[in-house]
Amino acid sequence: MTGAFVTRFAPSPTWYLHRGHAFSALTAFDAAREAGGRFILRIEDIDRTRCRPEFDAAIFADLAWLGLDWETPVRRQSQHMDDYQRALDGLAARGLLYRCFRTRREVAEEIARAPHGAMETFRGQPLPADEEARRLAAGEPFAWRLSLDAAAQALGGFGALTFTDETRGRVQARPELGGDVVLARKDVGVAYHLAVVIDDALQEITHVIRGEDLFEATHVQRLLQALLRLPVPLYRHHHLLTGADGRRYAKRDRAETLRELRARGVTAADLRQELGFR
Ligand code: GLU
Repeated sequence: MTGAFVTRFAPSPTWYLHRGHAFSALTAFDAAREAGGRFILRIEDIDRTRCRPEFDAAIFADLAWLGLDWETPVRRQSQHMDDYQRALDGLAARGLLYRCFRTRREVAEEIARAPHGAMETFRGQPLPADEEARRLAAGEPFAWRLSLDAAAQALGGFGALTFTDETRGRVQARPELGGDVVLARKDVGVAYHLAVVIDDALQEITHVIRGEDLFEATHVQRLLQALLRLPVPLYRHHHLLTGADGRRYAKRDRAETLRELRARGVTAADLRQELGFR
């Protein structure tokens, strides 16, 4: 392996970290160490309604307990909204975005009515100008969505969009998997995909190492990289850990947290071994 190697672990402080996070963080950390590269911790805290200082503090405590160290200062997305806004303004000026006033439920209903009932089919349209003006004047909240049709036109189709996945090799990106994705949420002003591609570029990430659950996200993010003319890192999507019941660890199932493990006397060495790290 020659050349720079910069990877990152990018948790959101919306709950305590669990084994799945430990696996992801250790995978990235060990890869950086083996390559003589750099490991970056990034806090993805754009959603101020769900992020909490105690979860934020616990990320640092848990990762230090695991034996990781990282570069400082740590980038927090909430402190860089201007970076995301600039990108949004640029995309909007190129006619690639439209305002979406739909509620979550309306979107879900539209998708359910569509022939394949999948996100893939979700394409919105800007509202007729007079209706949009009326809703704006009434102060109705809206999200900014990326128009796949406009993006395809701008790029002359998606055929040239590929990325390299370390296990799959060269992958043809299918950004339509995500439908017309939201790039700026109603409540937050930016959304996950946009913040991630901008940060990965600003932080000069060469290797994005994250779970297989984000494979589809990579297809969408590849399109954003093309539209924003950002470099394309290499990708490694690692398998997802499953618990004794065969289900993957997830925040929403309240998987046992690292701090709970620690409290019942599990050591970092025990956990590393359990997860297959030396
Ligand atoms: N913040 C995301 C999460 O906690 C991960 C983003 C990424 O690795 O691209 O799931």
